[in-house]
Amino acid sequence: MLMKDYEFWFVVGSQDLYGAEVLATVAARAQEMTDKLNAGGLLPCRIVYKVTAKTSEEISRTIAEANFKDECAGVITWCHTFSPSKMWLSGLAALQKPWCHFATQYNREIPNEEIDMDFMNLNQAAHGDREHGFLGARLRKPRKVIAGYWQDEEVQLRLAKWMRTAVGAAVSRQMKVMRFGDNMRQVAVTEGDKVEAQLKLGWQVNTWAVGDLVKEMNSVTEAEIDDLMKEYTANYDIATDNIDAIRYQAREEIAMKRMMDREGCRAFSNTFQDLYGMEQLPGLASQHLMAQGYGYGGEGDWKVAAMTAVIKAMTEGQKGGTGFMEDYTYHLVKGQEYSLGAHMLEVCPTLAAGRPRIETHHLGIGMNEKDPARLVFEGKAGPAVVVSLIDLGGRMRLICQDIEAVKPIMPMPNLPVARVMWRALPDLQTGLECWITAGGAHHTTLSYDVDAEQMRDFANIMGIEFVHIGADTTVEKLEDQLFLADLAWKLQ
Ligand code: MN
Repeated sequence: MLMKDYEFWFVVGSQDLYGAEVLATVAARAQEMTDKLNAGGLLPCRIVYKVTAKTSEEISRTIAEANFKDECAGVITWCHTFSPSKMWLSGLAALQKPWCHFATQYNREIPNEEIDMDFMNLNQAAHGDREHGFLGARLRKPRKVIAGYWQDEEVQLRLAKWMRTAVGAAVSRQMKVMRFGDNMRQVAVTEGDKVEAQLKLGWQVNTWAVGDLVKEMNSVTEAEIDDLMKEYTANYDIATDNIDAIRYQAREEIAMKRMMDREGCRAFSNTFQDLYGMEQLPGLASQHLMAQGYGYGGEGDWKVAAMTAVIKAMTEGQKGGTGFMEDYTYHLVKGQEYSLGAHMLEVCPTLAAGRPRIETHHLGIGMNEKDPARLVFEGKAGPAVVVSLIDLGGRMRLICQDIEAVKPIMPMPNLPVARVMWRALPDLQTGLECWITAGGAHHTTLSYDVDAEQMRDFANIMGIEFVHIGADTTVEKLEDQLFLADLAWKLQ
């Protein structure tokens, strides 16, 4: 399903005590708000007004339907009037979809001349939302609270961001990852408990033989390769005479895409240590698959592959870019402290500042019989995040660091791969100390389209630990946070 296929259910709290006239007004306004929010053009998905909730049965029935319906990516609640929370208790306790408590109000102003007790009885959001908020706290249920006037652009944009995150959660719960080969030998951080990942994040991570991929590659026709070559030429500059290498990558891409689509997989991993029967490590092939929305992880890193696919789904239609990244090396000149990120081949072209070039170069690592074709480019400048999911044994931790990407400060003409350069927040030294203290991997998902608030919301929805490294983070505060988190998670 695409972003536009998802919907969010608007459930508005009230009670029978108010009488038919007030309830009819509440329902009409809830519909009006829904229509205006949908017409505003700022939300990525449709809101559907479901019910003005007056009884426990109504609420439980609506929540049961929401849980069951694939299209429903989340529930948005708001109390126009007072709505006693015990009637919400059973329903919300059973809710399995992301929940946003939208603390808003129909009217913007207190009408000085008109206000009387009838007005007060109809417009009680300040009162009703507190009762509703208590229940959320009492249930210890993950929820997003968004407060503000519903017609304000900044409020709608926050709602839009949360909706995107909730769609990411829906995609996560259906995520299937295709692994070609295992993890790179001896590497720890790319390992993880696949059963725990499926339980918490919904990811089904399974393996397919490289030999099956080679068999699939052999069934790709020259005509299919011709078609994909036209697509490459339309999107990239060919900067090599080695057309055979590009055609070989096209063959790999078509075969991997076929296998993934057949199995419903949105992410894949491979390893240079297992290319048996293949002439080249997929470079351009993996890059162009990432450009189409598939998640990828090198060296068997299925966690970063799935996380990249989830964030790509969250950011569908946005223009910044999201892809697999690896921290490589630093520039430690005072006042110019930058990280250089790249990979041996597979950097996603959605991160590119300009038009990527297809080049072929020798790749010493792995079992490449031929020089693999890859896209080479510079990454965009601008604010972004890098995100890493690690398995601490017994729990998953999602780490998100704010970064400021820059145009690479030097051309690096002999570097044969795509590159992104950035300044970590709060600064390279502190940011690095925090990242290492938290256990973040060398592999990350880099995104110009999501922010730490969304990653935090995602972690809350999925029930995993979250660590944010940003402008205000210090090593001392982080160490205290991690110490307390260890205790808290042991009690779970
Ligand atoms: Mn790597």
